[in-house]
Amino acid sequence: MTATRSIRGMNDLLPLESGKWQAIESIVSAALERYGYQEIRFPVMEKTDLFTRSIGEVTDIVEKEMYSFNDRNDESLSLRPEGTAGCVRACVQNSLLNAGPLRLWYSGPMFRYERPQKGRMRQFHQFGVECFGMAGPDIDAEVIAMTAAIWRDFGISDSLRLEINSLGTSESRKAHKLALVEYFRANLDQLDEDSLRRLETNPLRILDTKNPDMQVLVEAAPSLPDFMDEESSQHFAALCALLDQMKIAYRVNHRLVRGLDYYSKTVFEWVTDALGAQGTVCGGGRYDGLVPQLGGPVTPALGFGLGIERLVLLVQEVNPQVLNQKTLDLYLIAAKKEVSAALELAENIRSSEPRLTLMVNCGGGSFKSQFKKADRSGAKVALVLGEDEAEQGKITLKYLRENRDQETLAVPEALNRLRSL
Ligand code: ATP
Ligand code: MG
Repeated sequence: MTATRSIRGMNDLLPLESGKWQAIESIVSAALERYGYQEIRFPVMEKTDLFTRSIGEVTDIVEKEMYSFNDRNDESLSLRPEGTAGCVRACVQNSLLNAGPLRLWYSGPMFRYERPQKGRMRQFHQFGVECFGMAGPDIDAEVIAMTAAIWRDFGISDSLRLEINSLGTSESRKAHKLALVEYFRANLDQLDEDSLRRLETNPLRILDTKNPDMQVLVEAAPSLPDFMDEESSQHFAALCALLDQMKIAYRVNHRLVRGLDYYSKTVFEWVTDALGAQGTVCGGGRYDGLVPQLGGPVTPALGFGLGIERLVLLVQEVNPQVLNQKTLDLYLIAAKKEVSAALELAENIRSSEPRLTLMVNCGGGSFKSQFKKADRSGAKVALVLGEDEAEQGKITLKYLRENRDQETLAVPEALNRLRSL
């Protein structure tokens, strides 16, 4: 029989890797909690319409990356390609937005039909942060400072650089868009196929092109700052001043537009050179118009998504010590007759020494084969409960990773010794 394989681009996280992920996840969530952010959980699947309405019909995600299907009731559902839409939906539906500012985080799988490669999968994982009810720029600065603090916690600050931009309001973008369409229409012969298509649908995205032949054209295109409204300009200047004061280095990149429709004013990305083409580890921005667009009250908002796969790759590359795996402390082996005594002893050790990790040899075997398993488990110490030990209320400690004589001790004494492991 042939075994069924997983879906391309959707990977298993095996035990050897999961410890690294746990280390990463606990460092990130601890940082978020330190800033007063609270966790929210919402489904991995939503009605398709939620995503098309928020992300935008003519974005890469909605045009070609969503996993959408009809359920048995013929309703179109989609696996979430990002978290903001579902988070906003949950906040609106549960009336969370009327009670003052909210700072939320979540983490979990996202799904996009993309070409799988290093740092790009079809099921990937993000930490997301969303803030509601704060017009900024102070909260914009706090969110960026918090991401900078996360990089410090991982010791990877030197490998990431911050790019920021302002997209202005939807009105200033409309004016910019008109000017762009006019400019690109006048230069139709220089547009590639992708850009020709975008000219009619989402001309702003042409600025994002990676086609080297179009760089000169794009450089000379009308630039958004010339169309920016006064309030957005002031917001951006104030954000820059706050970042300066906090000594957070950044580069203003007027071509940073990001791939979703809902952004306004501040957008930012943290980029690395250490991961090849998949260099954006974290990206986000302000989306003041989205909440009312999804049927909620007028609410200023901003957020970001942080790709966990890319963060794991980067930390592994730059500062792998952070990912040190936890090792097992104790492996308990027992004579055949002492199996029930061993299980009981193990329970007692676990409740009196909750800090220690203890695995019991299950499935029997000679002492020789049990010692082999103890060694393979990575445990620091093998605890041996032979018939003699059991009779005398003792236990033997055999040190597996250091050159130290084994000792047979009364159980309370042994516990004292283990406490200092
Ligand atoms: P990219 O330009 O690399 O496609 P994006 O702009 O589509 O990224 P966002 O929608 O901003 O990405 O998502 C936030 C973060 O999630 C990204 O910065 C990245 O770290 C991660 N991410 C996005 N798509 C994937 C993917 N297919 N596989 C792994 N991580 C991803
Ligand atoms: Mg993408």
